[in-house]
Amino acid sequence: MSDSKDNLVMEKLVSLCKRRGFIFQSSEIYGGINGFWDYGPLGAELKRNVKELWWNTMTRQRDDVAGLEATIIMSPEIWKASGHVATFSDPMIDCKTCKGRFRADHVGEISCPQKPSKMVAECHGEKTEPRAFNLMFQTFVGPVQDESSVAYLRPETAQAIFAQFKNVLETSRQKVPFGIAQVGKAFRNEVTPRNYIFRSREFEQMELEFFIKPDEVVEAICGQVAVPLPGATLTDPQPDWGWAAWHQYWVQERVRFYEGIGLSRETLGFHVQTPAELAHYARACTDILFKFPFSKRDENGELKGEELEGIAARSDFDLSQHARFSGKPMGVFDEELRAAWGKLAKDRQDDIWKRYYENRKGYLEKSGVAFEAASRQATEDANGLAKGQYIPHVIEPSAGVDRLILALLANAYSEATDTDAKGKSESRVVLKFHPRVAPIKVGVMPLLKNKPELVAKALAVRDLLRPWMNVFYDDAGSIGRRYARQDEAGTPFCVTVDFDTLGEKPELKDTVTIRHRDGGRQERLALGDLLSWILPQIR
Ligand code: ATP
Repeated sequence: MSDSKDNLVMEKLVSLCKRRGFIFQSSEIYGGINGFWDYGPLGAELKRNVKELWWNTMTRQRDDVAGLEATIIMSPEIWKASGHVATFSDPMIDCKTCKGRFRADHVGEISCPQKPSKMVAECHGEKTEPRAFNLMFQTFVGPVQDESSVAYLRPETAQAIFAQFKNVLETSRQKVPFGIAQVGKAFRNEVTPRNYIFRSREFEQMELEFFIKPDEVVEAICGQVAVPLPGATLTDPQPDWGWAAWHQYWVQERVRFYEGIGLSRETLGFHVQTPAELAHYARACTDILFKFPFSKRDENGELKGEELEGIAARSDFDLSQHARFSGKPMGVFDEELRAAWGKLAKDRQDDIWKRYYENRKGYLEKSGVAFEAASRQATEDANGLAKGQYIPHVIEPSAGVDRLILALLANAYSEATDTDAKGKSESRVVLKFHPRVAPIKVGVMPLLKNKPELVAKALAVRDLLRPWMNVFYDDAGSIGRRYARQDEAGTPFCVTVDFDTLGEKPELKDTVTIRHRDGGRQERLALGDLLSWILPQIR
């Protein structure tokens, strides 16, 4: 259990987020709606930055990933194929005394939705047996509301990627290995939304499905499958990588991403799923954790962390399911494989064929296909290798935008103490966001607002920077108060236009004061150098 000091941090953070316009309760004027949150002016900027950084890193900066933006409501068949209709549920229990409804595995740690850090005194009344509660929100498409018009709000963005796999492959001219990335809303009717925006009912995901060759195909083409040393740093994808190397690479890439936006290694943790925790089709899953103030502590008093992102090696399960349910082929043709297969010795072919056959048969049988039919289909699939055909496997790094926002806020939160001339101390909040994610990059201020020359020059500085970044112009109140306001919003730099900027000291003409949020250090910079000084720090 987290201790009261940790809870206090959450309480302060929640109140700051409301006061400064990061996050509001949805529908607040009507008393709110549990599990839904709105992002205010600063929150909307922060969120936009996070999504853009992810998108840039995962798609634009790479040759091997293409983007997708699919609809939220899709054919309900997709959710049958993915298994969500049958199994996407949590165990729910009711309390016969207080009539409360809880997730069976969360009882004992229920938090109050209004005050996310407060634990609600839990009723000890008799509970019902747990029963499965499907988390998908249902709706109806069209005017008739019956079984045939049922549809679902997507509970994850990933399935649209699988459903559009062939279209993206054909139009993007990509070849396996390659990925498809998507950012978008997801909806889960969580039994107990909790911990502020950590677990909500409407949230956003940033998901990549990275399609790779099955190990048997890599072996046929390269003669071997590279086995990564545990912990070895992987930065440069190689043709002989199998799923284990690709999985290790993506875990590390994602950690590099988090470090690049200010979450240091020490704030992160890992949970490697045990075979018992893994889905039957998954080969591995590593969760990247962030040590939130509400995270539980281990026996040494260290915060354990909660899931920010899961990176799963999902075999060829998803594409195979959609192939079976839609009747459309999801395999690819790989000329390299076809050519390599012909050059393999017969015993090598037989060996690879057999392993591929066993894997395919294993999947089909676990998916409920009868023995005979599974053997027939697996034979057909393994025969496809000689023709250069296979169903790609996939590595899935799946991150939550809102959880990341909360991690960034918790990570940035700090307090500074100012002491005035009379020795009176006052504590105030400084949000130490990495400049890349900070909602406002630069606060621009004239030293005095009643001096038109200063104001005109400061407005010119604002206009110089504005096409490139989010700038906030502020001329209200003392300069110290203006700096403090920007510190609280997490703005990394303030630019002040003073009389020296106007040429009072001729040698300082057209220079400005840069004031750093962290530490309050000030330096002077020529206006002509300002943009090239700021840009590399915020990108
Ligand atoms: P959890 O075990 O915490 O419920 P999960 O394993 O079901 O999460 P995934 O289905 O793997 O989550 O979803 C991928 C990511 O989406 C998670 O790592 C998380 O960041 C985010 N996410 C999932 N559910 C929620 C939610 N209810 N609210 C906010 N973010 C969520």
